[in-house]
Amino acid sequence: MTSNKAGSTVFWVLDSPDTTRGLAEGGYETEPSITCPLDSGHQRAGRRIGDLNVALTSTWMADFIWRWAGITPLLPERTLTLFRAAELTGFDVRPVTVRWKVRPRQPDPEDLTPDSTPGVAERVVTQTPVPRLWELVVTGWGGVAPPEFGLRLVESCPACDLKEYAIFMDPERLIDERQWDESDFFKVWPFGIIFVTDRVARLAQEHRLRGAQFRPLSSLWSGDTRTAGLPLSEYLPAARAREVSKRLQQSHDAHIREFLRRFDDTD
Ligand SMILES: [Zn+2]
Repeated sequence: MTSNKAGSTVFWVLDSPDTTRGLAEGGYETEPSITCPLDSGHQRAGRRIGDLNVALTSTWMADFIWRWAGITPLLPERTLTLFRAAELTGFDVRPVTVRWKVRPRQPDPEDLTPDSTPGVAERVVTQTPVPRLWELVVTGWGGVAPPEFGLRLVESCPACDLKEYAIFMDPERLIDERQWDESDFFKVWPFGIIFVTDRVARLAQEHRLRGAQFRPLSSLWSGDTRTAGLPLSEYLPAARAREVSKRLQQSHDAHIREFLRRFDDTD
């Protein structure tokens, strides 16, 4: 286990292993795509509307199911029960609409797309109830990237709000424990990465939970890296983002004031 250089607490990045890729398909409705009048390269999906709606491609269940790598794990009832029993903090859940992806009886000759996950056989579907899944919504706060982390704004688009950052320091310095609210699940702005405490990693290990990998912070970036950042409201639930944002605005901490002056985009 590696320790965080900035403090004594051990943190991990919660991520999806390649082995469970493709277990869930589908997604959510979005507002219209965001197009940028200045740069067509800034086009991106609009904000999500409503709950997730997924199709499971297998009756084999992991304890964490990912529709998108590294973003929003879906938790079966058993995982949620374990998290609650262990009194883990910094998360909420949203219901997920779940159905089986039914494998067609005959492969469709018109369908030429390579599909490694054809779905579940119809006779199995009729005998197997769909499992209940919950979307993990991170509400914990790990602060803003500290000065030691070395964040530089490379581009800030005046038309569409997209920001691009350069990172030129050690990712192990990303978490500033003085800003962290001690949640077990948390985010550090301006990134969408899910960070967890060692309590989460140990619980997963103890119960042999499948479908998640706990990566050291040092694995996040290496060398000079560029990455995009989005407003706080893209990374935390709306009410929580407003609350955190308000607190940031009222902070007297010199670094936070400087961070907001240079990077703020709290709408
Ligand atoms: Zn733009």
